[in-house]
Amino acid sequence: MSVQKITVIGGGTMGNGIAHVAAQHGFFVTVVDVNQAALDRAMKTITSNLERQVKKELISASDMSEIQSRIGTNTSIEEGAADADLVIEAASERLEIKRQIFTTLDGVCKPKTILASNTSSISITDLAGGTTRPDRFIGMHFFNPVPVMKLCEIIRGLATSDETYALIKSLAEKMGKVPVEVKDYPGFISNRILMPMINEAVYCVMEGIASVEDIDTVMKLGMAHPMGPLTLADFIGLDVCLSIMEVLHNGLGDSKYRPCPLLRKMVAAGHLGRKSGKGFYSY
Ligand code: NAD
Repeated sequence: MSVQKITVIGGGTMGNGIAHVAAQHGFFVTVVDVNQAALDRAMKTITSNLERQVKKELISASDMSEIQSRIGTNTSIEEGAADADLVIEAASERLEIKRQIFTTLDGVCKPKTILASNTSSISITDLAGGTTRPDRFIGMHFFNPVPVMKLCEIIRGLATSDETYALIKSLAEKMGKVPVEVKDYPGFISNRILMPMINEAVYCVMEGIASVEDIDTVMKLGMAHPMGPLTLADFIGLDVCLSIMEVLHNGLGDSKYRPCPLLRKMVAAGHLGRKSGKGFYSY
């Protein structure tokens, strides 16, 4: 089976980036979102990111209009996904929303269509289990900003077939990404390693070991990280960090993944990082 048409569910931060990259590499893309305003914002973001690529001479102006001509939008999943060869779901990170989306997709898509989720923390095996095609279900975990970040974790659910894996791996490469094969365990690889590091940095703040700035400086200058863990936590959103720590803690059952009490307190106070104007730093 060859993939030509890709439907992306969700036109938010990740959805518009995935649509951009897929269209840039020759695929026909439909972005589906329940919210027309989100689709309008997605197309605006794609246009301004393409303009930046033209300015940097990474693509030509005629490449840009060809890429744009390969992207359409729809507010109906039924209409937007009926003829897709692959659907990449990048809707809000809520289990009930994703389950509902995949039930609908399973009913409207062709039997051969592969269903993929860009979830950061929900089990691929669990989502696949709600469909009649767990062998054609897989995780494609892209990184933000998608047009810039090279990595794509490819997560195999318990029943994902070898054929599905091979096809999605080669598709990720065709989209210019470097795929890494990961089994379906909480946090995959990226968040399994990143989030406990951020959580430990929050413990260092809580225990008064050093200032926020100095903790970040240690990791930047001592470990050559491009940004300190507390700056990164503010960028990701402290609520997102907490919910991923809870997934690790519940899913792996080991007390080493317990979320730091200070992280819980900051989320309860609405100090969520950049998006709320205050986290470990003020914005
Ligand atoms: P976002 O909030 O920016 O966008 C989500 C979009 O989904 C919204 O536009 C919303 O209207 C839409 N949506 C909600 N319910 C829908 C439905 N039933 N049908 C169609 N569209 C629907 O979220 P995001 O940051 O783009 O995250 C999307 C997914 O990607 C999540 O699963 C998240 O965990 C994952 N992810 C996010 C990042 C990141 O850095 N933001 C990185 C990797 C993976």
